[in-house]
Amino acid sequence: MAAAALPQVDPARCTGCGRCVAACPPRVLWLASAHPRGWGPKQAVLHDVPGCTGCARCAVVCPFDAIRMARAR
Ligand code: SF4
Ligand code: SF4
Repeated sequence: MAAAALPQVDPARCTGCGRCVAACPPRVLWLASAHPRGWGPKQAVLHDVPGCTGCARCAVVCPFDAIRMARAR
């Protein structure tokens, strides 16, 4: 079943701390660089959209208020 809402990471706020990655029950978040060769700071990325349940634990746990839950469709 597809999630009703998906996390949207604000790149201006995300510090790459990884708390959301650790808090996600199905482990569908990871840290990745925006640079194609992996340079620079890492940020949270939802790498498995169908695997996200929309539970919003990632948004709740983020200390920097960098994740908003947005309606999936
Ligand atoms: S918890 Fe927030 S600041 Fe930390 S990696 Fe996740 S989105 Fe970024
Ligand atoms: S909403 Fe839940 S399942 Fe989806 S990325 Fe966040 S913690 Fe993981």
